[in-house]
Amino acid sequence: MRQLPAVDALLTDERSSALISDYGPDLVKNEIRALIANTRSAVLDGKQTKVPSTDTLFVTLQSALEAKVSPSLYPIINATGVIIHTNLGRAPLSDAAQAAMQAVARDYNTLEFDMRTGKRGKRTRHAQTLLQELTGAEAALIVNNCASGLILILSALAKRKGVAISRGQLVEIGGGFRVPDIMKQSGAKLVEVGTTNRTHLRDFETVLADEEQKPKVGMLLRAHSSNFRVIGFTTQPTLAELVKLGHQHGVIVADDLGSGSFLQTADFGLAAEPTVQDSIAAGVDVLSFSGDKLLGGPQAGIILGKKEVVAKLAKHPLTRAIRPDKITLAALTATLLHYLKGEATTEIPIWRMISMPLATIEAVAQRWRNAWGERASCIDGVSTVGGGSLPEETLPTKLVALTVAKPDHFMKRLRQEKIIARILDNQVVFDPRTVHADQIAHVEERVATLL
Ligand SMILES: *Cc1c(COP(=O)(O)O)cnc(C)c1O
Repeated sequence: MRQLPAVDALLTDERSSALISDYGPDLVKNEIRALIANTRSAVLDGKQTKVPSTDTLFVTLQSALEAKVSPSLYPIINATGVIIHTNLGRAPLSDAAQAAMQAVARDYNTLEFDMRTGKRGKRTRHAQTLLQELTGAEAALIVNNCASGLILILSALAKRKGVAISRGQLVEIGGGFRVPDIMKQSGAKLVEVGTTNRTHLRDFETVLADEEQKPKVGMLLRAHSSNFRVIGFTTQPTLAELVKLGHQHGVIVADDLGSGSFLQTADFGLAAEPTVQDSIAAGVDVLSFSGDKLLGGPQAGIILGKKEVVAKLAKHPLTRAIRPDKITLAALTATLLHYLKGEATTEIPIWRMISMPLATIEAVAQRWRNAWGERASCIDGVSTVGGGSLPEETLPTKLVALTVAKPDHFMKRLRQEKIIARILDNQVVFDPRTVHADQIAHVEERVATLL
């Protein structure tokens, strides 16, 4: 133990001054203390037979400090072909969205300031008119994400009321977010309608007409089944039918769209997703969808609907707790502008990926295969949209498959290079669709080196 240097001895060593200028005195001091304490107990416990040299201690100290300051959130390259990958941060943002975020992050801004009057302005006005113009909605409200939007809608409009929803739509979105639990949380009472596979309009009529129903039904909710599909002998009333019925009975009709696309997914060889414009045109009172799924923007919950309904939401105390920040609003506005200018498929990364021609993908796949040698082959495969949207829907793609001795081990080495691929039939496969153009050469070079 006498060989173990004192904290002060290490701290005054000249090697510490370089570390202090990089990491600051407090952090270096704390890490030296921790290092000495750890070394002491390792030796006492017999895990280490002798005290390491001061040189070795400084090497350990350096890497401990590096580990401490490296963020856990950092960019990676997505070669999985899953376009909206929730674990990998969902939608990557357009150049314009990134620039808009940076601009308001750096400078003071008009977040809640009215430049005409020089007085306090409203945060809620940002992106409002754009959303109205793009969707035909009377009013809009941006919140933190779609889940919080749904909680707000239920809390503000259906507390202590019955909310009728088809049994086929009692979905768990993931991360334990279940429609029935959200209802309970919001003080609304779930009224299940129909069966898992078949729900008719008359099933909704029955619960609305039921005098015994306590509390009375105050809302009809349609929830997008997002990440699952009911196939076979199935039926659901259309949104327009629900709206007509709801309004005959004076109850609110709400739509949890989940992904919420502005573009017709059928135009891209995918199943038809209901668009936001369709739901507005069907006459729903209020709807919500995510900013970072098929919209291709930042994490946000976008609530659209009738003026008086949205005004009620905006006044609810919960709204303050789930409000978006300036950076989100800037990115969202820039993303919405791409739709307004008709440039979504060229400027918004997820739409660029969805609409990417197979020939473009194949050219990259061949380039990689050529660079990676005989263990690589080009094969047909599928990319998926992901993000709890369009379940089972795939886009034909070209993959590069690598035959390696230990695929799991190779995947680990790839992760150290910040490249995420996938394993398919015991091969490591790379889908060029989700790799940005400026990352192609890097992937080529890193994988070649690993091989
Ligand atoms: C994804 C999803 C949500 C939650 O959206 P977040 O923006 O992740 O909070 C809610 N409802 C449906 C139907 C969804 O697909």
